[in-house]
Amino acid sequence: MSTFFDDNHIRQILQAVNIVEVVGNYVALKRHGREMLGLCPFHNDTRPSFNVSESKQIFKCFACGVGGDVIKFIMLREQMTFPEAVRFLAERAGVKLPERKTKNSPDSAVDRNELEKLNRWAARFFRSQYDKTETGRIAREYVNDRQINEETARRFGLGWTPEGWDNLTKAAQEAGKPLDELALLGLLIKKDQGGFYDRFRQRLMFPVIDALGRVIAFGGRTLADDPAKYVNSPESPLFNKSRTLYGLHAAKDSIIKERTAVIVEGYTDCLMAHQYELTNVVATLGTALTREHAQLLSRYADKIILVFDSDTAGQKAADRAIEVFFSQQTEVKLVTLPAGLDPCDFLKQHGDNGKEAFEDVVNNATEAMEYKWQMLQNTLEQADSVKGHQRAADEYLRMIAEMAAKENIDSISQGLVLNRVAKLLGVPSNEVYQRINRRRRWQKNTTEGTQPGQQIILDGRVKAEQEVLEILLNRQDLFEKVRQIIPNAEDITEPILQQIARRLWVCLEK
Ligand code: ATP
Ligand code: MN
Repeated sequence: MSTFFDDNHIRQILQAVNIVEVVGNYVALKRHGREMLGLCPFHNDTRPSFNVSESKQIFKCFACGVGGDVIKFIMLREQMTFPEAVRFLAERAGVKLPERKTKNSPDSAVDRNELEKLNRWAARFFRSQYDKTETGRIAREYVNDRQINEETARRFGLGWTPEGWDNLTKAAQEAGKPLDELALLGLLIKKDQGGFYDRFRQRLMFPVIDALGRVIAFGGRTLADDPAKYVNSPESPLFNKSRTLYGLHAAKDSIIKERTAVIVEGYTDCLMAHQYELTNVVATLGTALTREHAQLLSRYADKIILVFDSDTAGQKAADRAIEVFFSQQTEVKLVTLPAGLDPCDFLKQHGDNGKEAFEDVVNNATEAMEYKWQMLQNTLEQADSVKGHQRAADEYLRMIAEMAAKENIDSISQGLVLNRVAKLLGVPSNEVYQRINRRRRWQKNTTEGTQPGQQIILDGRVKAEQEVLEILLNRQDLFEKVRQIIPNAEDITEPILQQIARRLWVCLEK
């Protein structure tokens, strides 16, 4: 089966898709005036040269010159022919192209649309098991015991898979659904001797829904004391764990409004947060924060706050969070809940004040680089307060240098990082620069002859500008005063500092 299309279809597709959303799936875009800017995916871009215009629905890279409409973008990025790109976009936009039956086309490409429909069918099946069957009571009672109300359960589409190996298999056969594709989605598992059986049994089902409202996977929590507390769908053409955040469909609007995303560890934590009207909360699917998560969120938020049940999880996550900050420039903060409570328990424990109590905790989150420094200090200074401090500082610089070298960190971020490290350690920033540089040179920025970090530090006039910015980074309450003297970020003359200032001004004006 294949499809055909004409100019009318193309016009329809171009009207239905938004280039910013499509490109946003591949490139982290930040709003810059009326345009969106990001790193060009078609050449080795070191500074954001890739421009997407929402009003004109075109893209253009000012560095390598590539440009065009959304179809062109998909052709280049997905290495597709023109018709392939048109079909790809039609599918995303929900524009139906007329079908033309061909005799023996094997249709090797998986139809994501079909897979998504199958997942949605399965979610409805699990939901009806939960809602309408006698054994569904097991799930309903469990949900009720956990104090998840029916409204929340409905909003997140919670479902139930009863005991038995073939409930879904049979239902699929009866409904004429393709079992092979259900197996591709991981809902069924193929037996060696032929036939299929259900992956999820006696589990409370959490459909994983993406930002566009598509069911892309499931998580299932055992209600039968299975040693595997959770089983998740395996990776599939629809589902990539490290790119997925649970609850994003419900949280997206709030995240955009608040420009802040709060990430918790568990499905139930995310559910309960929403029940408590903390609507900008999402959960990772049993993984640490990845770059892809941050990239996905960077379309909606400037700030990410990770909430952990325990200190140990926080320690592991801090390194990842710093890496994400380096590569993505998304601010990441971390916080551990008191007494090893998870967010779900924490909220319930605070009863009617749950929302405010949780907001308090979130507002006291610590920026990732500082979090790491505090942890190092705590462990090393405990042993020996004088030498411990020195060792902690050395260790910290070593780690920062290593991470900075690994990530292709741009000059703006270098300046910000130097500043932060200097403030944290209480050491002048030029000394930090030298110490880091001695260990491992900052990535050489090929477009500039000089070391950008050095540039920031050496020049006298620049130094004054730098100090103003440093102060602002630490004393944001002084912004109004500073602005009386320096009304616009453009008044800062040093180009690198001006870039920092622009960002800072935008943040502080909020
Ligand atoms: P509950 O409160 O019902 O015990 P939870 O969501 O708080 O569940 P945690 O044990 O805190 O669960 O785990 C956090 C998250 O890690 C889960 O929501 C799930 O995404 C993932 N996870 C936990 N155990 C597993 C597992 N065995 N396999 C895959 N993912 C898991
Ligand atoms: Mn938990």
